[in-house]
Amino acid sequence: MKILVVGGGGREHALAWACARSARVERVFVAPGNAGTALEPKLENVEIAAEDIDALLAFAAAAAVDLTIVGPEAPLVAGIVDRFAAAGLRCFGPTMAAARLEGSKGFMKEFLRRHSIPTAGYRRFSKTDFDAHYVLAQRLPIVVKADGLAAGKGVVICASHAEAIATAQRMLGGAFGAAGESIVIEEFLEGEEVSFIVIAGGQQVLPLATSQDHKRRDDGDLGPNTGGMGACSPAPLATPALHARIMQEIIEPTLRGLSADGHPYTGFLYAGLMIGPDGAPKVLEFNCRCGDPETQPVLMRLTSDLPALCEAALDGRLAGVEARWDPRAALGVVMAAGGYPDHYHKGDVIEGLEDAAKLPGKVFHAGTRLDGGRTVTNGGRVLCAVGLGDTIAAARRQAYDLVHAIHWRLVQYRRDIGHRAIARER
Ligand code: AMP
Repeated sequence: MKILVVGGGGREHALAWACARSARVERVFVAPGNAGTALEPKLENVEIAAEDIDALLAFAAAAAVDLTIVGPEAPLVAGIVDRFAAAGLRCFGPTMAAARLEGSKGFMKEFLRRHSIPTAGYRRFSKTDFDAHYVLAQRLPIVVKADGLAAGKGVVICASHAEAIATAQRMLGGAFGAAGESIVIEEFLEGEEVSFIVIAGGQQVLPLATSQDHKRRDDGDLGPNTGGMGACSPAPLATPALHARIMQEIIEPTLRGLSADGHPYTGFLYAGLMIGPDGAPKVLEFNCRCGDPETQPVLMRLTSDLPALCEAALDGRLAGVEARWDPRAALGVVMAAGGYPDHYHKGDVIEGLEDAAKLPGKVFHAGTRLDGGRTVTNGGRVLCAVGLGDTIAAARRQAYDLVHAIHWRLVQYRRDIGHRAIARER
């Protein structure tokens, strides 16, 4: 079978690599891909941007692609699945209406409230009804969120009322374009964050292995928020009891609610959850796709046929399907360009990839491209080095052996990925 993976980041490299491991798969096209997907056996890059739905559709039809898997949120929110379905092509992901769970924070919060699914208390405002008095009456810190997609920059945790009002006014004033036309102001939740990713097919659901990511740029979970600087699987908090609560209190009612609203959800569904000091899970966010970098360690552990799982979801056959996992832990360390998540340089030559390829573990590419025979940096998050091990500590050693084999000018990475998990292991 032929597969098309849409996107060009580390998540898409991992998705394409996992698909290629299936004996049934002869070719995996990646649009647009990166240097890692360009060099991987069975994979082939196609020069089409992830947002160019017309060109993706034309390519999938012409190349007789059997299954398209969409990595990033933008084409999903823009309706790629609806367009492919209308053309009779199989595309794994939620429809435009279901993807609003990620595409609009206001829609998501109203959906959760309507279906009594636990989340932080909030109010939604637009430019015309913004009320600074509401902000002044809230406890600190306060979280201000742009409604639409803002490339991970649309959430600001404000330490003072003045900062919250200024942030709200900046968003409503157009700092994030259309994404900030409305905002959500919500209660700050204490606790520990857990990512919970499932494959959904309507109301049928298959949870993936648990994972936990590190969103802050610097060691000790300090510094600015990023797309994610590393992740490990399984998540240290993932007891069977918590797993059951998340399924019963969050995932199942969400899929039921979407179906009841007339927008059944098929695809990867990522719940960003805060587990409170009382052990209760609450929704921070939904993503309508896999997380990056969680996907890299999670898929390192998947031993089942990934395309078969996606097909089962599309065909309504997910009930009773089980995914098999490598019992070992996996841990991924993101290697980023210096200055990320703000200003950073592109085009630096990456040294040591051949040496790293001889070591155990796997280096997934994100912001890289081929320049002649060399691989150069081409984004903020550049690589994700994933190790496996009998413990998270062992997986971490393997991941950092990979990291230490690779170098470029101004590379930055955290030295403590997995620290919470390893503290729990001890
Ligand atoms: P989001 O994109 O909504 O998940 O927000 C990005 C990050 O901001 C989350 O992963 C959390 O670390 C943090 N965050 C968002 N909302 C809250 C909240 N209500 N309370 C505490 N932290 C939050």
